[in-house]
Amino acid sequence: MDFSWTPELLALRDEVTAVAEAAVADRPIREEAWVAQPDRAFSLELGRRGWLGMTWPVAYGGGGRSVLERFVVTEALIAAGSPISRSWVADRQIGPTLLAFGTEEQRRKYLPAMITGEACWSIGMSEPDAGSDLANIATKAIRDGDRYIVNGRKIWTSFAAEASHVYLIARSDPESSRHRGLSEFAVDMTLPGISVAPIGDMTRDAHFCEVTFDDVEVDVADLVGQEGGAFGQVMAQLQHERAGIDRLVSNRALYLQARADADTSDPLIRQEIAEIESRYLPARLMVIRETLGQGRGTAAVTKVLCTELEQRIAGFVGRVYGPAAMEWGRYARALCYAPAYSIQGGMNTILRNVIGERTLGLPKEPQ
Ligand SMILES: Cc1cc2nc3c(=O)[nH]c(=O)nc-3n(C[C@H](O)[C@H](O)[C@H](O)COP(=O)(O)OP(=O)(O)OC[C@H]3O[C@@H](n4cnc5c(N)ncnc54)[C@H](O)[C@@H]3O)c2cc1C
Repeated sequence: MDFSWTPELLALRDEVTAVAEAAVADRPIREEAWVAQPDRAFSLELGRRGWLGMTWPVAYGGGGRSVLERFVVTEALIAAGSPISRSWVADRQIGPTLLAFGTEEQRRKYLPAMITGEACWSIGMSEPDAGSDLANIATKAIRDGDRYIVNGRKIWTSFAAEASHVYLIARSDPESSRHRGLSEFAVDMTLPGISVAPIGDMTRDAHFCEVTFDDVEVDVADLVGQEGGAFGQVMAQLQHERAGIDRLVSNRALYLQARADADTSDPLIRQEIAEIESRYLPARLMVIRETLGQGRGTAAVTKVLCTELEQRIAGFVGRVYGPAAMEWGRYARALCYAPAYSIQGGMNTILRNVIGERTLGLPKEPQ
């Protein structure tokens, strides 16, 4: 089996790397480029180059290209730290979700602006009392004629202050509980009744927000998929969110710099580099396997492997730079951000439950 890329894929990778390197030339911090620092001009450039909606059907304006081409493009963009976040959520999961569950009208309405890089989508799942326990959602979307009236509060909604749309999950059956009675909606962020309050984090960034819905009227045409069937749809969507290359190379540029600066005469440092490299290679192969659709229920395993490696890299950066990593700057930021890797997209503690119960079929913990 030959795992090397074809000459065409290598040429594509080189082309993307050149664009990505030019985009980051003036950026002191290149980490978390898919989740922080939204950059409208760069997202529009991605659209112009055909690097958004790459695998989506040509009939909708997509590129009709292979999943490996998309993998090569996204790996090169994220590993270099280029600022793709403004278009990332739409490209990674909302477009594919609309292709899987949306109506023809929704695809025609929403996909074009995702492909040009104009649209910025955020994900409205988490609430103050519904993070890991997503089935505890309290935000309501109650049908009233040809619209739903939405009331409630979402939290940790990345780029909501920048977003043109939010992909919202809410309880459409007020009598329901837990996994039943939840529905999904494509919601225009300019609708009356939506307010957004950014939340600062330890890295001094404020990309995520609290979003409040106060009698927001959402057209029934913007219900995505089956009313009451959101939970199954969300689980499908999370497959896109959990097992991609974004989970592995968020701090790759920083790691390569730290490795170059490291004192490799120190045997402990050499050992740490060997540990990182020997985890990076199989983790990357796992991501490629998921990309090819060969994962067979292993997205949770892939996310845990990848994000724990990103955290390990942050620790390595701290050891390489020592006290210099305590001064505010790129290294301290990396240390402060590290806990987020195993929280965003579903906590690793929860994913370990998923691995035990669903991937391995182990008995459930007695309640
Ligand atoms: C950088 C970042 C970006 C994010 N972006 C978004 C976004 O765009 N949209 C969005 O909707 N959300 C977003 N989130 C929220 C994220 O999905 C939640 O933070 C995550 O699901 C955890 O939920 P929680 O914060 O409510 O923690 P909780 O679920 O309250 O967990 C708290 C602690 O309890 C433990 N715990 C809870 N239940 C169990 C259990 N059954 N077994 C074992 N341990 C358990 C957890 O492991 C954890 O240690 C983002 C988070 C981060 C960090």
